[in-house]
Amino acid sequence: MDGTRQNTTPYVRIDHSNPQHARTVLVDWMLGNACSYACSYCPKNLHDGSIRWQKTDDVLDLYRQMKGHYVDRLDKCVWLQFTGGEPTMHPRIIDLLRAASAMGFRVSLISNASRTVRFWHKIRDNLDSVILTYHNEFATLDHFVEVGNLLIDQMNVHINVTMHPDRFDRTYEEAKALRAALPTATITLKPLRVGFESELYEYTPDQRNRLSKGVPTSIRSTSITPRSTMQASTPEGGQDTLRANDFILRGINNWRGFKCNIGLESLRIKGSGEVLRAVCGVGGRIGHLGSAVALPDQAIQCTKASCACVADILTTKARIG
Ligand code: SF4
Ligand code: SF4
Repeated sequence: MDGTRQNTTPYVRIDHSNPQHARTVLVDWMLGNACSYACSYCPKNLHDGSIRWQKTDDVLDLYRQMKGHYVDRLDKCVWLQFTGGEPTMHPRIIDLLRAASAMGFRVSLISNASRTVRFWHKIRDNLDSVILTYHNEFATLDHFVEVGNLLIDQMNVHINVTMHPDRFDRTYEEAKALRAALPTATITLKPLRVGFESELYEYTPDQRNRLSKGVPTSIRSTSITPRSTMQASTPEGGQDTLRANDFILRGINNWRGFKCNIGLESLRIKGSGEVLRAVCGVGGRIGHLGSAVALPDQAIQCTKASCACVADILTTKARIG
């Protein structure tokens, strides 16, 4: 609970291992909540289309504000990461991707890959990376591989495979088939949480073991990504290289009182159009799609007892004083 937990981090600074990532403003942008699937484990409000797709003119207006502020004024690079629902279902998605490329932004999609190969062919020159999630209640392996193969020569492809315990063996075999078919993709076996909340579905010890071992990457991709590992510095000048999950698993993801670069390195646009500095919500609402947004030019002091979101963890932070 906020306000009660002690700060246990042994580090005084958390920096990006790749200095270019400190210049990259990663924008988590939910365009709406309609989806081509209705996965049994997905809460209805994440796929039922109850939030209308954001208006193209409003999206383009925020592009222009971001370009003026982050690129022209602060000399940063903007990397948009669109989510939904299923963001490729936005009726003007091709125009939105082309306009982002024309502004010099980099663009990622978090997608279930369900649209046709022809569609992916049309948009691939306007993409810099994709996160494709394999939901085998609806997806077909052949189509998913075909989309992955179309994209993988041009960009970093990360695949999440959702591992429902009732279909575990079949899904595990499909994950191995994806590994073989797309050797430079990174693949994560995703344990599922009930209602996408904190409680995990019940996995057997063997299933847990296979989840933690994963399906290792044999060939590393050389494509660029907006984020990677962090360099954590001790007061004595020591340095450790850590992944976001290392902070979570070691319980050292608490930086209350630190200066944090959310808003300078990250932005979040909710499906409702509300704009925040990051997923954690520290700093509150800074504007709304369709009007002028107070895009930040200063870091902010963290007020949260713990930093739960992977994207939030992968942001520069420094102890004050
Ligand atoms: S593809 Fe994603 S958003 Fe769509 S129903 Fe499945 S989990 Fe939900
Ligand atoms: S991302 Fe948010 S919760 Fe995490 S350290 Fe920064 S301000 Fe705190």
